[in-house]
Amino acid sequence: MSLDTLRAKAKIWSSRFIPPQHCIPLSNEAYREIRFFRHPDVRVLDGVIHHKVKIENGVIVLMCCDGDRFLAGLLSIAGLFATKHRWSTRVASWMKRTSLLFIWAFVFIYPRMHVISRHAGAHRVVKGSRTNAPGRATDKDLLDDIMMAIERMGIYQIVLLDHCACLKLGDHNFTVNEQFHDLFEARDRIVAEYAKVRSEKAVRLAADGDLHAATTLPNLQVICMCQVDYGKKTWWQRRKLRTYHLDGARLIEVDITRHKPAHNPKIARAISDYLEAA
Ligand SMILES: [Zn+2]
Repeated sequence: MSLDTLRAKAKIWSSRFIPPQHCIPLSNEAYREIRFFRHPDVRVLDGVIHHKVKIENGVIVLMCCDGDRFLAGLLSIAGLFATKHRWSTRVASWMKRTSLLFIWAFVFIYPRMHVISRHAGAHRVVKGSRTNAPGRATDKDLLDDIMMAIERMGIYQIVLLDHCACLKLGDHNFTVNEQFHDLFEARDRIVAEYAKVRSEKAVRLAADGDLHAATTLPNLQVICMCQVDYGKKTWWQRRKLRTYHLDGARLIEVDITRHKPAHNPKIARAISDYLEAA
């Protein structure tokens, strides 16, 4: 039996147990941009800050339905349960955050997660987004879905889980920088829509005479996160997926510094390093 035949047989045999993996690597440009946003002086992409997501209150997750990354994305949110306490974070990092811990989180402390998934996730909410076919009400329909989820589930926390590289966004030629700005635009639209729904509800409750309920309607918290798939170099290596918090205030800081380098010299240096390396 030749080596090629053996290899072909081994492939067929292993395909029974190992699902096919499609690991599309980040483009060099996207990788460079991500590295810039992760730079210690820039920190638009920062480590996951556990206290920002009060996962015990339940969470609505708006994410892309990319089949090669969906489970990893979902587990990274569910995994916030497992790594909620300092000791468990230590164990998780010791175990390299293996899926075992995440499965434990799923099975024993079943997180209240309400998932809304569409290609490119939150980007579809942006008004006039080029990810939506013109003349359709995709953004409005999705906004209605989100408002319904808040109302019916009573969950007032949304995680916009973005990911890099997203095939849908790639099809529409988004750069990483554009992608992040677009995500915050989506966040602002969701916040504005909820404010409208909330004040309408308050007026209705007040008209019915329930002033206490009208004045204590909960606020909505929208958290932006991004999962980066760094891929793997060889087939036996573990695929490197990292989840980050996206900091909108830092992104504005970077934008101002792009026009006025004196605004933040540290960021200005990181920008010039980034441009030089091009
Ligand atoms: Zn995607």
